[in-house]
Amino acid sequence: MNKHEEYEAEDIFELNLEKYGLSHLKGKNIVSLDEHDLDSLLSALGDDDISLNVPIPCNPDAIFELVNSAECRKCGKCCQPNPLNPDSPGIEVFKEEITAIAEFLHLPDTTIINQSQMGKWVPHPFGWTNLSSTRWLPQPCPFYNQETSRCTIHSVRPIVCKIHPVIFTGEIDSVSIKLYCDYGKDLVKNAFKTALKNNPNFEIIL
Ligand code: SF4
Ligand code: SF4
Repeated sequence: MNKHEEYEAEDIFELNLEKYGLSHLKGKNIVSLDEHDLDSLLSALGDDDISLNVPIPCNPDAIFELVNSAECRKCGKCCQPNPLNPDSPGIEVFKEEITAIAEFLHLPDTTIINQSQMGKWVPHPFGWTNLSSTRWLPQPCPFYNQETSRCTIHSVRPIVCKIHPVIFTGEIDSVSIKLYCDYGKDLVKNAFKTALKNNPNFEIIL
């Protein structure tokens, strides 16, 4: 995992707070910051496309509860190339999802497979048990309508799109949240509230 993209909760102390003009936050618990300081920190991290790990279990119930706790701004940023992450392989789509998209569009699977690149084998990931190997759709996503700024396969979009800006960490007890959109910032705040409810002593020291 690229360190630039993601910080583990336990190593967020490596953040260069001086760089963001936020050195006064050093040593503070991120979940106890006042609203102004937290907004400043999340904005700074978002501008550098740094994601934050939060202790939300990586299972469908917990993740959908989180993503439904705020409103996606429908800006389409996640469907397009990210200038801060030019090496991104694109949008991860599972093999079974390709079949569903192809059926929805009345196309053979091969049409979509030919637009994508080989991904990886992910056996039964984190309770999303019907999914297996992945491929990468390019960015801009071929299913993004630039004129209407809408996803043309919304009802069958990949799971990574349904839960974005939450992303899998590979851990069963945490997820990562991208901060490059205001929706992600809302979700981090809500995830902190949930974490504190589950564990009043939860802390991430800056
Ligand atoms: S998930 Fe974020 S980046 Fe993607 S459309 Fe919603 S607000 Fe925009
Ligand atoms: S499938 Fe839809 S939501 Fe996902 S990246 Fe493509 S256009 Fe965006």
